[in-house]
Amino acid sequence: MKYGRGFVSALTGSFSIPADGNPTGVMIEAAYRHHHLDIRYINCEVRPEDLADAVAGARAMGWLGFNCSIPQKVSVLPLLDELSAAARNIGAVNCVAIRAGRLIGDNTDGKGFLSSLRSEVDPRRKNIVILGAGGAARAIAVECVLAGVAAITIVNRNLDRGAAVAESARAVGDVDVRFVPWTSSFHVPSGADVVVNATPVGMVPHIQETPDIDFGSLTNSMVVADVVPNPPTTTLLSTAAKIGCRTLDGRGMLVAQAVIGVEFWTGEDLDPQVMQQALHDAL
Ligand code: NDP
Repeated sequence: MKYGRGFVSALTGSFSIPADGNPTGVMIEAAYRHHHLDIRYINCEVRPEDLADAVAGARAMGWLGFNCSIPQKVSVLPLLDELSAAARNIGAVNCVAIRAGRLIGDNTDGKGFLSSLRSEVDPRRKNIVILGAGGAARAIAVECVLAGVAAITIVNRNLDRGAAVAESARAVGDVDVRFVPWTSSFHVPSGADVVVNATPVGMVPHIQETPDIDFGSLTNSMVVADVVPNPPTTTLLSTAAKIGCRTLDGRGMLVAQAVIGVEFWTGEDLDPQVMQQALHDAL
């Protein structure tokens, strides 16, 4: 066993609220056991006003690192000592390593998405449509630019958020980035290669809902991806599959960002298959 000492295990975990729907701990602990690492992953429900205490507690207890999820990804920024280039570009942190008492923030959401996308298609020179302009969309847009896509279309209801995500993506590379206000059923342009749902629409318990797109505008040359990990097959993905699109579910992204996060905390390279199986069993 590595990392533990006597009856003391090394600690990692997550700070978010609500936290009870987050299966990350199940899959990461399965991989820790598989690799004989004496590390625990504690899924903690932390209110926004308690985040600073939780972070100070993690440092005091010598945690290796932690994830931040809804709604802590931006509010954690002032509590950190250092940011990776990705976290600076995205403006949000979902993964913090604690090294010699210093808190170092990174953002693995976009990298996790790209890693999952590459299992289906090479993103270079592709046209990407991103539905939504929240934290996940922002991370995906920035990493898509860095991965060398040809063009990105951000589609969002809130105009300020949509324009801001487009601006952040433009700031990291010379890519054609457009923002389209989402006012009615969105017609996917015929040149799109990848359509990503980066909104929570379709997540449990609202599993019948789909993002408001014109399904007649999807073609079988497109890859349709969903960030929603639960249910694994959203109504968006099952409908797209019937049209002949290749589909990617949110579990791939969840596993990939966890692999990258644990590597950031420990340097250990965990087996994604073990996490995938644990996630499959849990959901
Ligand atoms: P945010 O709250 O930051 O953003 C949500 C976005 O979705 C906003 O742009 C919002 O639009 C849009 N949206 C919400 N409801 C609707 C709707 N009914 N119609 C159209 N647009 C809508 O959330 P996150 O970006 O942090 O998370 C989004 C999803 O991604 C969640 O389901 C989360 O679980 C998932 N996720 C998955 C990960 C994985 O590894 N698989 C990792 C990270 C997130 P507006 O701005 O107009 O309000």
